[in-house]
Amino acid sequence: MPTEYDNYVDGQWIESERGGTFDVRNPANADEIVGAYQDSSRIDVETAVDAAVGAQESWRRTPGPERGSVLTATGDALEDRKTEATETLVREEGKTRSEAAGEVQRAIDIFRYYGQKARDLGGTAKAASGPATELYTKREPLGTVGLITPWNYPIAIPAWKIAPALATGNTLVIKPASAAPNSSRILFECLETAGIPDGVANLVTGSGREVGTPLAEHEDVDAVSFTGSTTVGTAVARAAATDLTRVQCEMGGKNPTVVMPSADLETAAEIVGVGAFGTTGQSCTACSRAIVHEEVYDEFLEALTDYAASLDVGPGLEDPDMGPHVNASELESTLEYVDVAREDGATLEAGGSRLTGGEYDDGYYVEPTVFSDVESEMRIAQEEVFGPVVAVLPVGDFDAAVAVANDVEYGLSASIVTHDLGQANRFVERVEAGVAKVNEKTTGLELHVPFGGYKGSSTNTYREQGDAGLDFFTSIKTVYMNY
Ligand code: NAP
Repeated sequence: MPTEYDNYVDGQWIESERGGTFDVRNPANADEIVGAYQDSSRIDVETAVDAAVGAQESWRRTPGPERGSVLTATGDALEDRKTEATETLVREEGKTRSEAAGEVQRAIDIFRYYGQKARDLGGTAKAASGPATELYTKREPLGTVGLITPWNYPIAIPAWKIAPALATGNTLVIKPASAAPNSSRILFECLETAGIPDGVANLVTGSGREVGTPLAEHEDVDAVSFTGSTTVGTAVARAAATDLTRVQCEMGGKNPTVVMPSADLETAAEIVGVGAFGTTGQSCTACSRAIVHEEVYDEFLEALTDYAASLDVGPGLEDPDMGPHVNASELESTLEYVDVAREDGATLEAGGSRLTGGEYDDGYYVEPTVFSDVESEMRIAQEEVFGPVVAVLPVGDFDAAVAVANDVEYGLSASIVTHDLGQANRFVERVEAGVAKVNEKTTGLELHVPFGGYKGSSTNTYREQGDAGLDFFTSIKTVYMNY
């Protein structure tokens, strides 16, 4: 029997009201069930929101330094369990050990960062026109917030929503992705160790339809922060907006790296390759399009296919270069895109198949895959694949490169590889993306800078991380004090 894990509601680990669980399997070994989680319903959401609303008044009145101490202690508790959290993440999501350790460290750092922020939430003193009047602004919490998270960063993304929500005095209910809920369970055990008061943070597992939708729609939820696909995020934004709930949706990407003739092509191939194949291509910021000047197209393609072929793919716990897909449906989706690309006329240069034989038969492995002769209107150049597949598109000049980079419905992260500073600046100015990078991969971002997208990648109202995380979870009050 797999270990069964409960919801965390009002300071108690409890089963869902109707009973029943769903299983999560190890993507590197599908015979291994890593845990069984509560298959919750709308009623469990109601109970959790009631608990969070009940805890609101006391948590918002808890002094910032005290709230901050709980967050810092949560980071410390997670650090004490770093190896266990890393292996849990690998077992449920499939990342390599190094990638997972980096993600767990990010979650630790996020809790410590917002632990400090809770002591300094900002606010400003202004000059008032009346001589005896003090004029200033202060942040206030929104109330109770609903958080909905994806499986691809199952500990860092919950952390980057939970920590700023709590730092600013909100109470919360989180629904983690069903493919990888175990990392959130560990986070909640760390919050408990750190002394989070009952009801302040609540965890409810279950399907998007039965838990996510009621959370987004709930009239007592004052804000919804969602990360996931553009299709689901659009539905969540609509559900939340019906009662004017503040909403933030961070969604998919189709991120380009432009390669210009002045680039060192080995470096460019590595920038594209790490961006495309790191985390098995399962990052919102993964590079899925290399847009390459035709003068260097053939040479770049050779370097990139060599890079792809050099990668060692295997079970994440053995720390190879690339782990498996998270589950069978994501693997099948990637393989379908390989077929679509071929049918549309792209040329397969590397990979393209499921890895089989020996230990590969137990998991969801696909080869790092490169397509050439891709045109911008092809589906492989337009749709988010969310697997280790990169499309290489030829262009005649810089203007064409920017036009192709912007020729998608997404706008999350974009990069250029060039030694021409003027070109680099023009790219930053013209590219439609929330993150623009020069001579860097599209993936990866420091925790203290704003993160979010343009166009279909984001509701584009608020950013996440850094002070932007505080902005989403607070209202600004302007105060005139003549006393
Ligand atoms: P997803 O299918 O959209 O799911 C995201 C979350 O929404 C999950 O918790 C899911 O629950 C829930 N959900 C599903 N249907 C729902 C509904 N009708 N109402 C409310 N909630 C619902 O995304 P995913 O497959 O987990 O994650 C991959 C996607 O996330 C990719 O598109 C990726 O680009 C994006 N992403 C974006 C960012 C960013 O910051 N921009 C970061 C990471 C990932 P279940 O798991 O139970 O279905």
